[in-house]
Amino acid sequence: MKKKLLCFPLLLILALLSACGDEPERLQVIAMDTVMTFQTYGKAAEDVLVSASAEVRRLEDLLSRTDPESAVSRVNSAGGAPVEAGAELSALLETAAEYSRMTGGAFDITLAPVSSAWGFTTDSYRVPSQAELDALLAHAGMEHVHVSGDTVALDSGTQIDLGAIAKGYAADRVLDLYRQAGLERGWAALGGNVAALGCRPDGEPWEIGIQDPAQPDDGNAYAGLLYLEDACAVTSGSYQRYFEQDGRRYHHILDPATGAPADSGLLSVTVVADAEEGSGAMCDALSTALFVMGEEQALDFWRTGGLDFQLVLVTEDGRVVTTAGLEGRFAPAEGSGYTYETVS
Ligand code: ADP
Ligand code: MG
Repeated sequence: MKKKLLCFPLLLILALLSACGDEPERLQVIAMDTVMTFQTYGKAAEDVLVSASAEVRRLEDLLSRTDPESAVSRVNSAGGAPVEAGAELSALLETAAEYSRMTGGAFDITLAPVSSAWGFTTDSYRVPSQAELDALLAHAGMEHVHVSGDTVALDSGTQIDLGAIAKGYAADRVLDLYRQAGLERGWAALGGNVAALGCRPDGEPWEIGIQDPAQPDDGNAYAGLLYLEDACAVTSGSYQRYFEQDGRRYHHILDPATGAPADSGLLSVTVVADAEEGSGAMCDALSTALFVMGEEQALDFWRTGGLDFQLVLVTEDGRVVTTAGLEGRFAPAEGSGYTYETVS
């Protein structure tokens, strides 16, 4: 289970390797409640890594729900009054509203009070009654979020949590920094969010393992491998944060229809897209939303949603389902025990 790390200052573990040619520079930080690793190459690499860590810290200061000073917290604690939230948060809320609309409400940043009721923000886990969840759900939905210019107002009782899109958005910003610095290659892994620029120094694509959700503690247990060049990949899974009570497992991805952990037959959803402006945020939002929807609806959304992305679904009944656009970019993990299917 992931530990709450938000209260710690940003940790920097700087591995300074020689800055020439094919030797990578790598920086690991803890921010946004997860371990982030940035890897770059070339002369500017070291400076870019420092900028990347400053950028994720800036975004954490803006978007954290547990830091009372953050813009998100100021909005959440305003008791319905309008708050000068700034252009960046307002734009991200518009983006979140768009994904909410496109996914029929499966993506819902207003589940914050529901998530708190389960104890996911404090690690004091409990199972709320359906009556309690229903009362909280009365204040959920994007119709309770009002963005006007740089000002944000929430209806009384409504709170927001950008946890399902913030790391993807941060990955977009980090890749921007890489590009602005003229880097040709590098990658950023923000928890389950990966963004890759260019390819490896040897000309091969970056290889990214998709965690086997059945073995979350074995960092070398994969459900499959992705081969990515100029692309992002984001995984949401029920194994990433959960607690157990009376023999039942309760995880952190909530179904807005019930307020309970989504029980959709999936163990994880990985969304892959070309690295373009906004694609990290898209992959992050969709990985959460499509987890809620389940296999059938997720594949329908892939076919008809009008967005350009591919999927790797790991199901509770032991299948790994990949969409046709991943041909040549996905490989099964040897000996994983899963059955592999491609859909078109
Ligand atoms: P992680 O942050 O663990 O990588 P996700 O991107 O799937 O995983 O985000 C899950 C987080 O988003 C939860 O911890 C919660 O704060 C919030 N959340 C839970 N359910 C939803 C939902 N249906 N839509 C949007 N956000 C959600
Ligand atoms: Mg997400």
